[in-house]
Amino acid sequence: MTETAQANNKILLDVRDLKQHFPIATGFFKTSMLKAVDGVSFSIRAGETLGLVGESGCGKTTVGRSLLYLYTPTSGEVVFDGARIAPGPTLDMLRRRAQIVFQDPYSALNPRMTVSDIVAEPLDVHKLTSDKNERTERVQALLNLVGLSSEQATRYAHEFSGGQRQRIGIARALASKPEFIVCDEPVSALDVSIQAQVLNTLEDLQARLGLSYLFIAHDLSVVKHISNRIAVMYLGRIVELAPSIELHRHAQHPYTLSLLSAVPIPDPDRSRKARRIILSGDVPSPMNVPSGCSFRTRCSMANDICAGEAPSLREISPGHYASCHLL
Ligand code: SF4
Repeated sequence: MTETAQANNKILLDVRDLKQHFPIATGFFKTSMLKAVDGVSFSIRAGETLGLVGESGCGKTTVGRSLLYLYTPTSGEVVFDGARIAPGPTLDMLRRRAQIVFQDPYSALNPRMTVSDIVAEPLDVHKLTSDKNERTERVQALLNLVGLSSEQATRYAHEFSGGQRQRIGIARALASKPEFIVCDEPVSALDVSIQAQVLNTLEDLQARLGLSYLFIAHDLSVVKHISNRIAVMYLGRIVELAPSIELHRHAQHPYTLSLLSAVPIPDPDRSRKARRIILSGDVPSPMNVPSGCSFRTRCSMANDICAGEAPSLREISPGHYASCHLL
């Protein structure tokens, strides 16, 4: 979707100061809080794709699951199509109109169910078909929509390749005619040659059905082309958010710069000249987040202010947000 079309569309999803803290037992009668998501805000317009990237354990999958209320958020608000989500009718509405495609197509599908029953699950849960014939027709149409044949409906998931299984997962997600889908690392378990095919299918479905995506990935090169905007997460918070092209050309946050420097460059000349930024140390535990800027233990530009005060996410140019004291 072009930036102009995107700007004209209504905001479908608004996530405000979302927090997801999990109590973890650390000894006899002692618990500590694991701050998986610690105050994340963003919005997604109808027809838009927001990429959400960061290293493993940064909280991006938890954001996707919490905004769908697969985990009840510790605090914060999720507003979908103008309705504030809470257990009850608004959550029922969200469950119908928002879906998820999981990362691992091998474990996400029940091996004892036929493809037909897997894809029809949301139809059955939400009672969206009136009889068996309509159910069969809907399943066949969904399989065709994702590039599978209707004859494959009677087979079992283990009979399919990884790419085909992910297509079954996408067909299941589309069954309730959602407007919004969380794509949780949908291609990272697939061979590189298959990744592009599944990404093309997702883009094609978006164009045909007007879907909005939150596209979660650990690799910036995967989200670059599919996303209108990209948010970069580090230790439970968004540290930079910008339109995809702007982020790739004018990234500002030291963490984003290090992620970008790790993206392979196809041109050997440019690749030789490019400077790789290697971060020192490991990602700190979300149970023991550094004071001030949570990136300071790995940031080559950290100074005294960084330890004392957490930088807020500020707009540094139109539509481009970053959290760093130096900006
Ligand atoms: Fe680095 Fe300080 Fe900026 Fe954090 S606030 S990213 S530690 S310079």
